[in-house]
Amino acid sequence: MHEVAISTNSTQRYQQIIETAVDAFIAMDSNGVITDWNLQAEATFGWSRPEVFGKLFSDLIIPERYRNSHSESLQRLLATGEGQRIEITVLHRDAYEFPAELAISPIQCDGTCFFAAFVHDVTARKEAQQKLALKAEELARSNADLEVFAYVASHDLQEPLRMVASYTQLLARRYKGKLDAEADEFIGFAVDGAARMQQLIQDLLSYSRLTTRGKTPCFTLAEAACHTALDNLQESIKISKTLVSVGPLPAVLADATQLTQLFQNLIGNAIKYCSERTPEIHVGATSTASEWLFSVQDNGIGIEPQYFERIFQMFQRLHTRMEYSGTGIGLAICRRIVERHGGKIWLESEYGRGSTFLFSIPRAERTQK
Ligand code: ADP
Repeated sequence: MHEVAISTNSTQRYQQIIETAVDAFIAMDSNGVITDWNLQAEATFGWSRPEVFGKLFSDLIIPERYRNSHSESLQRLLATGEGQRIEITVLHRDAYEFPAELAISPIQCDGTCFFAAFVHDVTARKEAQQKLALKAEELARSNADLEVFAYVASHDLQEPLRMVASYTQLLARRYKGKLDAEADEFIGFAVDGAARMQQLIQDLLSYSRLTTRGKTPCFTLAEAACHTALDNLQESIKISKTLVSVGPLPAVLADATQLTQLFQNLIGNAIKYCSERTPEIHVGATSTASEWLFSVQDNGIGIEPQYFERIFQMFQRLHTRMEYSGTGIGLAICRRIVERHGGKIWLESEYGRGSTFLFSIPRAERTQK
């Protein structure tokens, strides 16, 4: 008597739990005949409980073309005794199909076997995934278009610009002092403007070549790349009497030319944006479990925190050309190089005391000798 009471209680509890489940719950016997069907199953499939009892699960909610393979997989589950979680297409009472996640397990109880199945409608998730994939595709396409545009525009603009630059220079050489002072000044502006435009277009071209001419990353000694950068900068290091210390730096998976360019832009800036103090620069690296963290530290003019993001954008500068030369593309190039290598670039700085530019490169195990 007592045992029956417990059993009735637990059956009630089981029913309550099943009724409040957010997923459709369906129980069926070993032949696939439905024996239980909760409220959510009614909402998901449109059939009421009395309508489905005694009907075959596959006849009711599996589209006809999948029924054979569905029956076979039920038999397989019975044979192995293992549960399964799959994505399938199911059928609503109103004859439309929708995607669902099905978790189904064969359960042994008192010598008989039945199936317990939870079904979750994933239409919304699928639609969101599709929309996201479409957006990503659109974005990739428009990025690629933009790159081609930047490359073609800068490449094709070079030729007519070369003409303008050389003829304005010729005018300057041939007619300087022969016209009036104002004409000399105007020609000077034209020469200067053309030269500046050439520099901007050159920079734009180098920026788009980072992807069009980028090489497949291979094991590269960062210390060697840094020393090549210092060699390229030796003239300005000598003139400014800059003190540089390096390393030790690790080997990383990188495009060696781009890694050199990255160091060169950062060290070049550290030399250029110096205060009245003798420039002192330290290049170092530390590691975490997943990446190498490189730093280029200077004792220069520093940067105010509100500009920490902006200076990495193309053609963004904090100074006029009179104060410091440049076109504002160096750090945009740095960011693109670092991102191509799967890392991030940022800075820490105290205005008036110096800056440290930091960039990360994921660690990679050596795969070639
Ligand atoms: P450019 O040097 O041609 O202006 P960058 O993209 O290399 O272009 O730098 C963008 C701006 O960031 C610079 O104009 C400068 O104001 C600031 N900057 C870059 N590096 C430093 C540095 N080490 N110290 C202080 N300011 C810097």
